Amino acid sequence: MTILYNTPKIEEKLGAYFQNLDFSKNIDFHTLTLKNHKKIEGPFVWYGLSVIEDKEFHLEVFEKAGVKAFLSNAFDLQFQDKKQKRKGIIEALVGKGLLHKMDSGGFQLMKANISGKKLPARFNQDLVFKIQESYNPDIMVQLDVPLSPNLTKLEKFQCNKQSFENYIRLFDLIKDSSASATIMPVIHGHSPKMLEHGIKQLAERFSRIPLLGIGSLVPMVKSIKGTNKIGGKWTFIDNLLYLRHRLPNTFIHAFGIGGTMQYLAFYCGIDSIDSNGWIQKSGYGVIQLPGISDRFMRKKAHNRPYLQNHRKYKRNGRMFIKNEIDELLKCKCPICSDSTLSNDMTVRYQQLQKKFEEDGTLGRKHRAIHNIYVQNAELEQIKKSQTSGKLYKFLKERLISSNYFNLLEYANYLKRSKLDKAYYLKFGKKDIRFHSLRDFI
Ligand SMILES: [Zn+2]
Repeated sequence: MTILYNTPKIEEKLGAYFQNLDFSKNIDFHTLTLKNHKKIEGPFVWYGLSVIEDKEFHLEVFEKAGVKAFLSNAFDLQFQDKKQKRKGIIEALVGKGLLHKMDSGGFQLMKANISGKKLPARFNQDLVFKIQESYNPDIMVQLDVPLSPNLTKLEKFQCNKQSFENYIRLFDLIKDSSASATIMPVIHGHSPKMLEHGIKQLAERFSRIPLLGIGSLVPMVKSIKGTNKIGGKWTFIDNLLYLRHRLPNTFIHAFGIGGTMQYLAFYCGIDSIDSNGWIQKSGYGVIQLPGISDRFMRKKAHNRPYLQNHRKYKRNGRMFIKNEIDELLKCKCPICSDSTLSNDMTVRYQQLQKKFEEDGTLGRKHRAIHNIYVQNAELEQIKKSQTSGKLYKFLKERLISSNYFNLLEYANYLKRSKLDKAYYLKFGKKDIRFHSLRDFI
């Protein structure tokens, strides 16, 4: 049944915000030189720190899985790291030459405020800077104020105003200090209109925006209360493509986007993301493979998906088969390619099942090394496909069995549509393809 997409929002976006942007222009990933002359090159991932694991665990996992950068959080360091465990981990990782981004903890502050939790100290930009300064990270993020989808327009505007004021405050504080960090300004918005407001504020003050973070994406990609109000995953695609083409020379970081969503973020031109998912997934007992979401090593009582050969997927009336066990056996991570493993594939698989299901820290470590290695190998593939002009083809293969496949098709449609002014004037509001596309694909 055809349900016409009944919203004026798309027209508003097409008209007021998309008309001068040519989405068909291919934009490569960016390389950013930081203030301390270190470089980050997209697509890039910052890995979060586990609150359970110790220093040795992080050092071994990050080294074996080829991690180049990690992130910490000023709120966590101030209020949760009572035994200074993370402090030791940060110092050790920095000592190994890993890049360090320190987030402010705006999201954690919002959660604490919502739950009515009393904090022992007033958590403002000055305190955040004091914590950040003491660690001297490569990148500092200002104390930003995330937007809940249920806020009114005015409330959202006030949150954005506070985020911007904090950015200016951080800018002034760092100027008067010896810190050598690069600041990542963060803007929040649920529509191109709101993002444009954030960009304008920055552009009025600074001649260039070499680096930008975008927040408040999580309520769009996760189904939580208020998601529909702000347009959900379709709008997520609109917003990222808008931002990418609005700031073609800026290195853009997306907060809170991991898992399968990262493929879409990279396709829409995001240069870097955070990954905290590895901690939970490794602890939980699942392993990941390219284009295959979380899998247990064997059938369990809870009956959640486990690795299988001949798994069938239906897509657009066609049947696809994935041999997940064979995929695992091809993995080149230090765990799966260990030279002591048997060459007999049946025995080898049993040995891997055992390794990934070891009790306690050892099992978690094996899974973490594998999962992060797979993530890093995916980044290289994304980069390679982008360079050879085959990113869409690559992602299609990856997402064929995913619920997000239609979003890739939508993003591809937008990118091919040459939404420039001439196109808009020609088709204008009458072009209902955008309405029907969302219903049909
Ligand atoms: Zn592996």
